[in-house]
Amino acid sequence: MNLKFYKKIIQKNRLNDYKEILLQAQKEGYVITSLIDWYDKYKGSNTKVLVLRHDVDYDYKGAYDMYKLEKSLGVKSTYYFRWLSVNDRIMKEMHDSGFEVSLHYETLATYAKKNQITNKKDVTKDVLHHCFNLLGDELNDFEKRFWKIRTICSHGDKVNRILQTTNVEIIDYTRLIDYGIDFNTYNPEILKEFDAYISDSSIYNNFEWKKFGAPAKAFKQGKKSICLLTHPIHWNQNIVKNIQMLYTVYVDNTNIGF
Ligand SMILES: [Zn+2]
Repeated sequence: MNLKFYKKIIQKNRLNDYKEILLQAQKEGYVITSLIDWYDKYKGSNTKVLVLRHDVDYDYKGAYDMYKLEKSLGVKSTYYFRWLSVNDRIMKEMHDSGFEVSLHYETLATYAKKNQITNKKDVTKDVLHHCFNLLGDELNDFEKRFWKIRTICSHGDKVNRILQTTNVEIIDYTRLIDYGIDFNTYNPEILKEFDAYISDSSIYNNFEWKKFGAPAKAFKQGKKSICLLTHPIHWNQNIVKNIQMLYTVYVDNTNIGF
């Protein structure tokens, strides 16, 4: 068997490690909260804040376990769900508990798959503009099914890598507010507000902390505002789920329409 897949199948549950990070942040005096709560209450303030962002690419059950852990520690966070990973019951419970639950959009990737766009040169200004309009429809659909949302976050699909164009590139920042959206997480104006931006990575990268480095380093350096991005799929596992996830990821990556 491919060593990579084997590693994934035996991936262990790491939620305890995640809990340790949160406990350490609490000990260091950080407020731990969602993106929108940070935006409304702490952006530019002197308060030490750890903002928790989760991109739920596949694993809504893993997201639910992370949420329960966070709730038990009295903290809040943000969960971005793809259309592929939405789960009404879980999302509603999170939302009712005061967590931020919103859309992990991938409008350009979906459009490219549908229209068999395979070349960067075919991603014209008109295509980007059209996708921004489609995003407006998606936000309407999301809000009809769920609730009013104020932030969104783009997902990176395999197709985006092929097209060398991210889903962020469809965003027209002058018009985003017309959709009732305060910000997109990759807006440079938002990113520059964080003293440290940290992202997790998969078992294929030995769970290495990307960008800034380990959260503990940021706490030690007394960074004021930290954004910590984690993907439930990298944290909450068991052997059955690992196999299911491998299959789900495989289907997602092979269903590229061309
Ligand atoms: Zn994603």
